[in-house]
Amino acid sequence: GVILGIETSCDETAVAVLAGTEVRSSIIHSQVEIHASFGGVVPELAARAHDQAILETVGRALVDAGLGLEDLDAIAVTNGPGLPGALMVGVASAQGLALGRGLPLYPVDHMEGHLFAAALEAAVALPALVLLVSGGHTEMIAVESPGRYRLVGRTKDDAAGEAFDKIARLLDLGYPGGPAIERAAAGEVDPDLVFPRGMRSEGLDFSFSGLKTSVMSFVRTHPEVGVTPIATAFQLAAIDSLMIKVERALSMAPYASLVIGGGVAANELLRDRVREAAKVYGIASAIPSKRYCTDNGAMIAAAAAFHRSLGDPGVVAVDADPQRMLIA
Ligand code: ATP
Ligand code: MG
Ligand code: FE
Repeated sequence: GVILGIETSCDETAVAVLAGTEVRSSIIHSQVEIHASFGGVVPELAARAHDQAILETVGRALVDAGLGLEDLDAIAVTNGPGLPGALMVGVASAQGLALGRGLPLYPVDHMEGHLFAAALEAAVALPALVLLVSGGHTEMIAVESPGRYRLVGRTKDDAAGEAFDKIARLLDLGYPGGPAIERAAAGEVDPDLVFPRGMRSEGLDFSFSGLKTSVMSFVRTHPEVGVTPIATAFQLAAIDSLMIKVERALSMAPYASLVIGGGVAANELLRDRVREAAKVYGIASAIPSKRYCTDNGAMIAAAAAFHRSLGDPGVVAVDADPQRMLIA
């Protein structure tokens, strides 16, 4: 079937057309310029910008795919978690399109979307260990069989992407912070500048607040140290903090593949380390193209396609659910 995927949970207005397993188009209208001067997403401005961009973005996605509304079989939309006003724009548009065309509507969990990004490009062998690392979430999920998710570990405080964004702001590198830190972190690793790895010795949960505090106090007490060594040491500590837990989880249970998703999965150091870890454990790694790591409509359509394949008929009406949780 042909599915239109709509994503407006945060600061990208994103629409994609998925035909079977092929992404026919994926348009991402970013609001970066709108929020950059505030150093983060301003919810009211995000909702208004989605409202202004959504119809044109749907139109562009259809034109790019070479298809019309009459070619669609279903509409998928992120209905949570996310910013309430932002979600409402996508949900209302999806609702209108579905009603107008008499199409089934699939309300998709944004994090299940991130989880399905890897499946857009390759079949993922199960059981899989999935590391979801984004602006608002940091968690490991075991996918034991299709659609069966078990929480393995999650952050006790900040999300990984949030830590990148906050440290980028501290270092005056701008917004969004992840790519800015990655560009700045081009230095040699200084063995004398080491920031803490969160909750290194215990369990499978993550913590980034200690790392953040440590970098903040270092910057305050060492004004002479440049941005490059600090960004380099921070990035290494952040990625290590993730990989220590990933490797521990891999050592505790047998998995057929290691999967990553979410905006931080665009980070080259993390991508390299995930490839290495999978190799050490002799399992497959599933690493989405960068354009499918950050928010996009294709991953939302892919999650809906999966539910359709299980016989889910979709719904006729949908509400935004800003606090939606993939795993209760
Ligand atoms: P959530 O998915 O939790 O609702 P979100 O949708 O805002 O949050 P994403 O779009 O998935 O998050 O990812 C954005 C986050 O990814 C930001 O925090 C950004 O700094 C981070 N990020 C993007 N690229 C990189 C990178 N190359 N390295 C590290 N972090 C990155
Ligand atoms: Mg974003
Ligand atoms: Fe996201």
